[in-house]
Amino acid sequence: MPPSPMRAAEHCRTLGGVATTAELLAAGETARSLRAAVVAGTLLRSREGVFVVADAPDGVAAASAHRGVLDCVSAARLHGLWTLDEGAAEPVHVRIPSSRNARVGDRRAVCVANDDGESGCRCVSHRHRMIEPAGRMSVGVVDALAAIRSCKGDEAFVAALESALRQRMLGPHDRERLRASLPANARRLVDFARADAERASNPWCGSVCAGSASACAAR
Ligand SMILES: [Zn+2]
Ligand SMILES: [Zn+2]
Repeated sequence: MPPSPMRAAEHCRTLGGVATTAELLAAGETARSLRAAVVAGTLLRSREGVFVVADAPDGVAAASAHRGVLDCVSAARLHGLWTLDEGAAEPVHVRIPSSRNARVGDRRAVCVANDDGESGCRCVSHRHRMIEPAGRMSVGVVDALAAIRSCKGDEAFVAALESALRQRMLGPHDRERLRASLPANARRLVDFARADAERASNPWCGSVCAGSASACAAR
């Protein structure tokens, strides 16, 4: 079968958007077809032996270059949460596996998020203990929220948490795991955000607050 850059990208996407050479070979690709996909621009080689689909969300390839996945506000954005940060100017926040001898700014890791390569790496690294297993591109919502609190502070944490609650992305079990992972003096934030988000979604005040937690809380 001739190499097909589109098929190679499709195989990588099926594997979660980030895949090793071995996984792609097992899926039917060849060394030649992977090279052709990189040349055609459908796959990026984020580091030796690892490929990322070229249309992966912002920062995924950079995180992979550092042997990590998106974390904190970068992961929250991937999950569709509202985040209080610098928007497009915000650096990529990366969860680096603590077992790996890798770090942000690692001269061996070419951070492909930046056009100027190694010297352009502005990534922020996180090494906190994981609450749940990460996906191939990103940590889950619970870990992202916990990272936001320690990295960006209480206000950013509550904003992202309320966004997750309003979108019903956190069940009672997730909320409890998140709460338990926080220092004792921060646990009240989870209770506060829950009450606030519930008040905002209360149909009796919907006409007044129009679903905005801050407007509703101000009543
Ligand atoms: Zn962060
Ligand atoms: Zn970087």
